[in-house]
Amino acid sequence: MAKLTVRDLNVHGKRVFIRVDYNVPLEEKNGAMVITDETRIKETLPTLRLLIEKGGRVILAAHMGRPKGQREATMSLRPVAARLAELLGTKVNFADDCIGEKVEKLANELPPGGVLLLENVRYYNEEEANDPAFAEKLATLADVYVNDAFGAAHRAHASTEGIARVVAKRGGQCAAGLLMERELQFLGDELENPARPFVVILGGAKVSDKIKVIDRLLEKADAILIGGAMAYTFKLAQGFKVGKSLVEPDKTDMALAALAKAKQRGVQFLLPTDNTVATPVVTDKLNKKGKPIIDLNHPRTNTEPNIPDSEEGVDIGPASAALFAKTILSAKTVLWNGPMGIFEDKRFATGTNAVAQSVVDATQKNGAKTIIGGGDSVKAINKAGLGDKVTFMSTGGGASLEFLEGKELPGVAALSNK
Ligand code: AMP
Repeated sequence: MAKLTVRDLNVHGKRVFIRVDYNVPLEEKNGAMVITDETRIKETLPTLRLLIEKGGRVILAAHMGRPKGQREATMSLRPVAARLAELLGTKVNFADDCIGEKVEKLANELPPGGVLLLENVRYYNEEEANDPAFAEKLATLADVYVNDAFGAAHRAHASTEGIARVVAKRGGQCAAGLLMERELQFLGDELENPARPFVVILGGAKVSDKIKVIDRLLEKADAILIGGAMAYTFKLAQGFKVGKSLVEPDKTDMALAALAKAKQRGVQFLLPTDNTVATPVVTDKLNKKGKPIIDLNHPRTNTEPNIPDSEEGVDIGPASAALFAKTILSAKTVLWNGPMGIFEDKRFATGTNAVAQSVVDATQKNGAKTIIGGGDSVKAINKAGLGDKVTFMSTGGGASLEFLEGKELPGVAALSNK
């Protein structure tokens, strides 16, 4: 059902409590915490500008990192307040807590159009526990509730779900922000009745993470293209050898069931026909987690159906990229989630970059609607400098996947219906 959005609200003079996703990467430089990627802050500006223009009194809540209920100085949102003020071109007040009398006073003193950012809600364990008393305390700051944090909407936490229930019970409105509205439109409405052909590209590490998405999209898509390590579980299920590739041998049943469903429904199901393979060699160097670093040596294209025992599949090969391109360029709607290989290593990003270029071409040359379903595919598109050349990129990781599985996200369910 369609949800109320900030466009529908009359907020003049009202305290608008907005849950945003300001979980930005921070790095310590000369004793100060510095924001290294401000995308998430910038994404909220349209919603904030609209509410400021409408005379709302804007109160922002967010989480940062995992402080586990402690006041952890490196996870303070204070640096975000400073940057937000510069981006908005207006004063942003900062409260060094998210509940309590002092915070209430700051909120109540805000003039129409004023902005207040609260300290990290995860300084309290009650946030993730969705504690009703904590949600009540947050709700004392709110006449109206807005959720613009799609990336956190799959979690039923006090600031994403509990507070909305309290505000709604009092007869207050709970609405989606503009960013949330776009997520629901593209990952939801646009894929409900997609223009055809509808081509889905899935990659990444594990079949088990995405099998529910595959299952649901097998009911909607005309073609499903599989790359990444996921493809090796399908290959193994079909009786091929996968060498030392990352694979889930206990998930071959799932893979076979998906292949059977595709056949039964007439969905084209494409697996890579060639691969980039490399020889893994354990070194005596350790990574950040204290595990040995594995070098991937002697990359080469493997055109045989089997991967030799000593080698590992690390990317789709050029023939697969060309095969995928042909299908992607026939599409009127494309959904892409997950890289085609270990794209973090430049040597194995070729397949992912080729798919990114095909998706861009489908958008620019054929007018296809192209939707990037969050996580690493967004990183890959941005890394290739193609971010503004697709129709939509989701800001959610886990939330996008759960939404694509057809689950109702608690943070969305709690919003008022139109
Ligand atoms: P996901 O979060 O499931 O989308 O997975 C993303 C991760 O999958 C990235 O870190 C990639 O490096 C990894 N990945 C993709 N293809 C492979 C592969 N062939 N072997 C190992 N890891 C892969």
